[in-house]
Amino acid sequence: MNDMLRREAISRVGITIAIDGPAGSGKSTVSKELASRLGIGYLDTGAMYRALTWYVLDRGIDWNDGEAVARAAQEIPLRLDSDPADPHVWIGQREVTKEIREPRIALEIKHVSTNLDVRAWMAGDQRRRMMEARLGGSGMIAEGRDITTVVCPDADVRVLLLADQEARLRRRTLELYGDATAEHMEIVRAQVEGRDRADAEVSEFMVAAPGVSTVDSTGLDVRGVCEAIIRLVDDDLARRDA
Ligand code: C5P
Repeated sequence: MNDMLRREAISRVGITIAIDGPAGSGKSTVSKELASRLGIGYLDTGAMYRALTWYVLDRGIDWNDGEAVARAAQEIPLRLDSDPADPHVWIGQREVTKEIREPRIALEIKHVSTNLDVRAWMAGDQRRRMMEARLGGSGMIAEGRDITTVVCPDADVRVLLLADQEARLRRRTLELYGDATAEHMEIVRAQVEGRDRADAEVSEFMVAAPGVSTVDSTGLDVRGVCEAIIRLVDDDLARRDA
């Protein structure tokens, strides 16, 4: 199917695409690329956890007060732009797109991502965004750790994106430092391994759940990964006679 026919098919039936994977698996790059190509929205669920971490820090809420952190999730005036070519994040009138990528956020995010009340609120909100886009004659691709299993286990296309540990580290180091020297790789190794360990306590994102397709990005470039997922999209559209 060519890109135009695929877009037309999607506008007839709508689509939800769920992509999970560990840090450095290439989820964000691939999801943005796919969303642009398919003409659908993009939801970076990690940005939502990051934004909430920024907000809790800004408000001076005590990390030990789990109830206050969960309340913050319900009251945060979060705005996300779902345009994959240029995603932005605001909290109220303040744009936090860049600030939420700072290391001080990654350092504290576990307090937010391991809070089960926060996770329940996030899952409900993320699901609503995906379903609204699907019903509106378009669709959404959402990437995270629990999209295929908790947020949208009934997504039309579900993918677990994996890559071997060294490939993931190399990608993240290049992203953060613009090079992959041994020294920088070691700094990133400590950060990524720590975060994956904390995340693994609350979500399973290294083993595909039943019905979820695994795509290994180790030897593939962005284009190759996108092609593999587009094949799954075409299978889904054919199954639904779109
Ligand atoms: O994807 P990204 O690295 O921006 O995610 C930041 C953090 O947000 C993850 O390390 C994880 O703690 C949390 N997260 C999550 N569930 C998701 C997406 C992100 O717990 N669906």
